[in-house]
Amino acid sequence: MSTIKENIENVKANIKAACERSGRNIDEVTLIAVSKTKPVPMLMEAYDAGMRDFGENKVQEILDKYDKMPSDVRWHMIGHLQTNKVKYIIDKVCLIHSVDSLHLAQEISKQAAKRDITMDILVEVNVAGEESKFGTSLSDLKELVKSIAALPNLRVRGLMTVAPYVVDEEENRSIFANLYQNCVDITSDLSDNSTRGCFDSDRPLLSMGMTGDYRVAVEEGATFVRVGTGIFGERDYSISI
Ligand SMILES: *Cc1c(COP(=O)(O)O)cnc(C)c1O
Repeated sequence: MSTIKENIENVKANIKAACERSGRNIDEVTLIAVSKTKPVPMLMEAYDAGMRDFGENKVQEILDKYDKMPSDVRWHMIGHLQTNKVKYIIDKVCLIHSVDSLHLAQEISKQAAKRDITMDILVEVNVAGEESKFGTSLSDLKELVKSIAALPNLRVRGLMTVAPYVVDEEENRSIFANLYQNCVDITSDLSDNSTRGCFDSDRPLLSMGMTGDYRVAVEEGATFVRVGTGIFGERDYSISI
């Protein structure tokens, strides 16, 4: 069995190769270690191997791990976020990837204002229109981004998607290409897209690609890939943290 460190090196090498194939600069791509269901010692192994970006999909799990990990970790909320839980993580995460309604964005804006901070968010899009998935439809996207971008104490930095599960990652190429194009079209209209936060970049941020399809996602313009199994191994949901 390979170690977490070896897995990270392997994923990074694949990202580098995908950047070379598509003529992209590797500095544009941030690898997020998706550590949901995994215990802190495993996260620390990834941390010691150089990882600083960690993705979680449950508020409680972020709260449990937050104090046990070094303070320079950047936490990414990548899962469905209930409005009533925004207040618990608003000052702990650097980017919320999974904003899919105006209602949720309004609560994020309100909680950020209370703490006098500005929260960076991505709008989650259900590109393939799968019933089981969260995210706004492509047809509602533009209106939603416009309404959200008007809120104070929040910056729309780009888009996120969870692509369908496929055996051959090529099948998701058109989904990623589609999201990239929408990201370019929509976020270029936003005024202050270039500003600070955890990720100082004048490009729109695009969170797409998981263990099964991150290579293709990078080729199609991902700036964040979210890799869990490929770093930490299979998840066992029966174990509680
Ligand atoms: C679990 C999860 C991932 C990581 O999935 P793997 O296939 O294990 O890499 C990525 N994104 C989201 C939103 C997830 O919930």
